Amino acid sequence: MNLNEVEILYTKEQIAARVAELARQISEDYAGGDLLVLGILKGAFIFMADLVREIEGVNLQLDFMSVSSYGTSSESSGEVRILKDLDSSVEGKHVLVVEDIIDTGLTLRYIRDLLLKRGALSVKLCCFLDKPSRRKNSITPDYTGYTIPDHFVVGYGLDYAERYRDYSAVCILQPWVYEK
Ligand code: 5GP
Repeated sequence: MNLNEVEILYTKEQIAARVAELARQISEDYAGGDLLVLGILKGAFIFMADLVREIEGVNLQLDFMSVSSYGTSSESSGEVRILKDLDSSVEGKHVLVVEDIIDTGLTLRYIRDLLLKRGALSVKLCCFLDKPSRRKNSITPDYTGYTIPDHFVVGYGLDYAERYRDYSAVCILQPWVYEK
């Protein structure tokens, strides 16, 4: 980890404790039932891997989707392009969408509406990080790891130009890195 470029916001230990709490809550809410956990690639892959291994007493099916939003990298337009669709059908299933971070909310609103249109019985959202100050709609995650101020964060699956995903802490990227 290059500590000139990043500042630690949540340590590996803090993250593990919070993920375990989220998993406990999800295990209670879906106890004994079936649940399709849908990870949004690439950012959610580490969070999802940790989360599903802590969920107990729920019959899980796992799938992934990869999406990209049209628009510039810093300003999403709300239109979402599906780069990789799920392999399974969501019809008649309870779905939990797992995402790394919710910012404007445009991506998750698109995905939620799409899954409901395809016949999902229920769609809940689990985001590790939430930046509510930037929201452009009324989407609120059902499960949130941490609510954070408007910083650009990396690590724990989150990237800047495909770097830093492997950092085990959630870090604030120093602005000089992306302003240079
Ligand atoms: P939105 O909620 O604006 O539609 O988009 C969420 C997506 O924007 C996330 O999945 C992530 O790819 C990207 N994003 C938003 N804020 C950040 C951030 O602070 N760091 C990183 N690495 N990606 C972010």
